[in-house]
Amino acid sequence: MNNWSPSSWRDFPIKQQPTYADLEKLAKVEAELASYPPLIFAGEARSLKNKLADVVNGKSFLLQGGDCAESFNAFNANNIKDLFKVMMQMAVVLTFSGGCPVVKVGRVAGQFAKPRSADFEELNGISLPSYRGDIVNGIDFEEKARVPKPKKLLKAYNQSAATLNLLRAFSRGGMADLNQVHSWNLDFVKDNTLGEKYEQLATKIAEALNFMKSCGITSANTNQLSETTLYTSHEALLLNYEEALTRKDSLTGDWYNCSAHMLWIGDRTRGLNDAHIEYFRGIKNPIGCKVGPSMQEDELIRLIDALNPENEAGRLNLIVRMGAEKIGDHFPKLLAKVKAEGRNVLWSSDPMHGNTIKAENGYKTRDFAAILKEVEQFFQIHKAEGTYAGGIHLEMTGQNVTECTGSCSSAVTQEALASRYHTQCDPRLNADQALELAFMIADTLKE
Ligand code: PEP
Ligand code: MN
Repeated sequence: MNNWSPSSWRDFPIKQQPTYADLEKLAKVEAELASYPPLIFAGEARSLKNKLADVVNGKSFLLQGGDCAESFNAFNANNIKDLFKVMMQMAVVLTFSGGCPVVKVGRVAGQFAKPRSADFEELNGISLPSYRGDIVNGIDFEEKARVPKPKKLLKAYNQSAATLNLLRAFSRGGMADLNQVHSWNLDFVKDNTLGEKYEQLATKIAEALNFMKSCGITSANTNQLSETTLYTSHEALLLNYEEALTRKDSLTGDWYNCSAHMLWIGDRTRGLNDAHIEYFRGIKNPIGCKVGPSMQEDELIRLIDALNPENEAGRLNLIVRMGAEKIGDHFPKLLAKVKAEGRNVLWSSDPMHGNTIKAENGYKTRDFAAILKEVEQFFQIHKAEGTYAGGIHLEMTGQNVTECTGSCSSAVTQEALASRYHTQCDPRLNADQALELAFMIADTLKE
């Protein structure tokens, strides 16, 4: 790879990075991180790439989801467990009802750094540096909290390690057993329309499992039924953190980012001549890039060629986030161009980031109807072009929050946003809303 090293991004222009006051301290923390064990190993990233290649070839579907930003305060076992359960529920809905295998990737165990639309935030005539995620500074609107602190990189690493450890335990230790399909339904979801719809599906699965048991096929003799794999991902925004966790694979001699299985580039940092593209071209993990409404056709082809020069299926996931009002105008020509040029990419839809609005009472929110509308159009545009809509990328939580408005089961009104608005950054789908979306996608996949 031409002149690439884990630190070669440092010679390129870079956006959305904090300004640290104590550079000596920062260098020490980076060196310490570089001495820590990797969180994932290269073989896992390769197996995810193979599974994503199946998605590109229309054989399975990618479900990627989790918090907009993980937080140090909300770090506890219940939050992790409930996210795991909702992802499992959505996956069985898609697999059983939609008839399609699902690759599960959490926005979790490292999703800390946030790009911001402005460097400063104003409140009551006071201006402070923006909050950039718990890995950088504190969310409280106080001068002291907003100072970027290098030590937070270590805390983020440790939280990521503990989160990943628990997810691995759930995946392999019995929580993912299909015989547990009823227990994934969360208490607050159980009694509403969606919870009931899910219970009916779970009952059918339980019947199928009983039948298989009678035939001698049980989770004791096939771990396909009792275990799962939930991969991890985050936006690799803070490149000094990512560099410290970039390691050479002893088996292949290739470089892998070992802080997560999959990493993506945000819509604000995807400049072709910028540091993020430089960093990403050298790592072998499966990667993603957000594609917003400003993306031009030729620019997209150049971006694909920079990030996936070997045109490898499973390497590059283009995460389309246009907004329900814009996708119809902007996406078809990009899709047609990439198809005509024969590039192998995974197309997934992020129906969250183009649909953020401010409610009348000041809350940043997203309306479920707009989210559904963007997803529906994403599928329709693919159908018209004869290409495969491969996945969905969601900001969601297993908690009973009121951050996005709408949905059929527990319609959150604008007035209700205040009751359980807990997000650290952008509004997330609650478990009901996430499940409703999964049923809608399953119906589409079946067609
Ligand atoms: C995000 O995924 O949280 C994000 C900031 O998205 P985008 O880069 O698409 O704006
Ligand atoms: Mn977000």
